[in-house]
Amino acid sequence: MTLGPWGLFIDGTFRPAVSGRTFQIENPKNGSTIAEVAEGATEDIEIAIIAAERAFPVWSALTGAERADIMHCAAEVLRRRLPDLVSLEVDQIGRPRREMAAQLARLPEWFAYFGAVARTHEDTVPPFAGNYLNYTRRVPLGVVGHVTPWNHPLLILTKKVAPSLASGNTMVVKPSELAPVTPLLLGEILKEAGVPDGVYNVVPGFGGTAGLALSSHPRVRKIDLTGGTETGKAVASIAGRNLVKVAAELGGKAAVIAFPDNDIDRTVAATLFASFIAAGQTCVQGARLLVHRSIHDEVVAELIRRTGEIRLGDPQLEATQMGPLVSKKQRDLVETYIRIGQEEGATLAFGGSRPEEVAFADGYYLLPTIFTDVKPDMRIAQEEIFGPVVCVMPFDTEEEAIAIANGTEFGLATSIWTRDVARAHRVAHRLQSGIVWINDHHRIDPASPWGGFKMSGIGRENGLVAYEEYTQIQNIIVNLSDAVFDWYADDDQPKRYS
Ligand code: NDP
Repeated sequence: MTLGPWGLFIDGTFRPAVSGRTFQIENPKNGSTIAEVAEGATEDIEIAIIAAERAFPVWSALTGAERADIMHCAAEVLRRRLPDLVSLEVDQIGRPRREMAAQLARLPEWFAYFGAVARTHEDTVPPFAGNYLNYTRRVPLGVVGHVTPWNHPLLILTKKVAPSLASGNTMVVKPSELAPVTPLLLGEILKEAGVPDGVYNVVPGFGGTAGLALSSHPRVRKIDLTGGTETGKAVASIAGRNLVKVAAELGGKAAVIAFPDNDIDRTVAATLFASFIAAGQTCVQGARLLVHRSIHDEVVAELIRRTGEIRLGDPQLEATQMGPLVSKKQRDLVETYIRIGQEEGATLAFGGSRPEEVAFADGYYLLPTIFTDVKPDMRIAQEEIFGPVVCVMPFDTEEEAIAIANGTEFGLATSIWTRDVARAHRVAHRLQSGIVWINDHHRIDPASPWGGFKMSGIGRENGLVAYEEYTQIQNIIVNLSDAVFDWYADDDQPKRYS
């Protein structure tokens, strides 16, 4: 069944693109079309920005508590609509139902958390200075632009929408061309919750047209992009010309560091979870397993055995543990890296090919893949593959593990696996990594800042810092004295102005 055609969501209603053009959304499990969506471009972005500008005075004038009430309502409506959203996300991107259900069930927490921030974090008042009252206000930016990827269509969008709403901004979203349906549906949900028309607008389309028009628009006050590092650089430089704020959540090459006191089963379970969830298509995927040489061979043997048990299948079925990759283009890219790895001399210890079952023939399936004998400077150990491929590398000392973990241009996330508390913190403090998990991986929370060092990005999602990054500070200095301050008078008053 094909859904749609879905319009652009502008000013609280679905409408066709000015050009009348549409594009199709494909189900990666079999290449069928699941939806037809209006294709927005420059003129549509302009219309959406005008709608968001009109809505800004109304939305920003509400008190934080009033916005919080609407956001709590949004959390409730979202909870009610979860079954539909889960099914649609599975169809759009091919991630197994069990993963999407677990991920989307947490989305209401973002609206609840940032609603609470809106209620409690309005103005801050530093101490008096002499006969002065000196205080600051956090003022919303205006119209902000969100450009989002396909791999977690709703989660990543929610991480941007919730703090934008809480701080009083209005917004225009350019979702991934591969997964625009659930971001459009979020428009309906927010409207039902009481978000005024024009506050949240969605213009599906392509990066080079709609994405570029949004990122380069002089009246957009912040661009918040999640995507690849090259896209991040391009968008940041375009937006920089208008001196607008930029947040960029970009690529990664996360390491899973397993010290020898970590038992074999836990190391293997950690790696499977870190490396293969979402068929490895996450920015914090455990792309590199750094394992102490004393347990390396045992870990590899067990990792191969357990990887062979991962159940590939139809992502809509509860039993499926790994679905297809999101698109033909993505699978081609991952297969190219698998060839590169072999040419570089790494050992293909498991996978590396498509599953043979006929049922998978029309989808973009790929077996989970393990490379051993990987050297830290190989391309497969340096570049983001964004697929179900893990590169195993042994290390001998803590120092060496840290050097390998830090030895890429990325710096998004790392997990450390050890029972030694002192070692865990010591290593964490030396990692060039915006997120460090100790004996865990992939955990995310609306209150915990999320973002990368180095080429993994700038700015942070989640937590108070995300709310603050969606505001600008206004400082108000009040002279409480009634005395006349006359700079030019020849009297004996102290002449200070700073
Ligand atoms: P892309 O960089 O290809 O695209 C991201 C978004 O940017 C899409 O909406 C895309 O449009 C748009 N876009 C592309 N080019 C431009 C342009 N010139 N101007 C404006 N917008 C543009 O990333 P993917 O969608 O392939 O997502 C995967 C990437 O995202 C990986 O590198 C991954 O690491 C990263 N990521 C980072 C996360 C983090 O938290 N740090 C989380 C999740 C993913 P279109 O859809 O048409 O391509």
